[in-house]
Amino acid sequence: MSKRVAVVTGASRGIGKATALSLSRAGFDVVAASTSIESNAEFAAEMRAADGEGFLAVNLDLRSPESIKEALGRALKEKTRIDVLVNNAGITRDGLAVRMKPADWDAVLRTNLDGAFLAIQQVLPGMMRNRWGRIINISSVVGQAGSAGQVNYAASKAGLIGLSKSLAQELGSRGITVNVVAPGYIATDMTKDLPEERKQKILAAVPLERMGTPEDIAAAVKFLASDDAAYITGHVLAVNGGMYM
Ligand code: NAP
Repeated sequence: MSKRVAVVTGASRGIGKATALSLSRAGFDVVAASTSIESNAEFAAEMRAADGEGFLAVNLDLRSPESIKEALGRALKEKTRIDVLVNNAGITRDGLAVRMKPADWDAVLRTNLDGAFLAIQQVLPGMMRNRWGRIINISSVVGQAGSAGQVNYAASKAGLIGLSKSLAQELGSRGITVNVVAPGYIATDMTKDLPEERKQKILAAVPLERMGTPEDIAAAVKFLASDDAAYITGHVLAVNGGMYM
């Protein structure tokens, strides 16, 4: 059988990049998508070094339904099928609810939730035809526990959980599993500018006493994408050092 094809959104940095590298090393043909990944020579070199000779980089803007159609259409055309979709790309626009601008609410919901759903719609017909597929949505501990100052982000991440459980019920009979990975506090660009005091407060709530790494999350995604996870669907896998149980 030819290699399975995995699309990873938000693959240019952080968790998405670690996931793209890990899936590539695990034998998947990886399609890496993000806003400007096609011109990212450093990323291309790292992918090739990680057994990723056949990888494809496609620019994708999740805020645009047209861009999602175009990027995944190109991936399907060049790779002929998509077996795994990892909806990883995400943004924050934090602020207290009372002052939150509609644009900040919209940007986060459109990117994190609408974008993921529209990407899923693009890959579903092929997965249903092949009677095999893995959809893995990257949520957050914030979607499970809530977080002051992040109503938009928490709503988008909780939305992904409801979406995934519903989809898992729709698609089980087609051999497609749908699962969620909910990371805790992970060392990436997204968390690097948090005030030191906030970082220490978060860390004090982590029983494993460290921040997670992008590789901690990539390992969970790789497992859910594998044949070993064939009987797991509709699950929310918390990878958070125990900060929320
Ligand atoms: P990150 O380092 O900030 O990287 C975000 C990625 O998303 C980048 O590749 C970026 O692409 C892409 N992206 C942003 N807007 C996009 C858009 N409109 N269209 C397409 N791609 C877009 O984030 P991260 O920390 O690795 O987080 C990855 C996922 O894990 C996110 O969904 C995040 O919510 C979730 N998560 C993170 C943490 C954490 O502590 N870091 C915790 C829980 C959950 P460009 O580089 O091209 O802009």
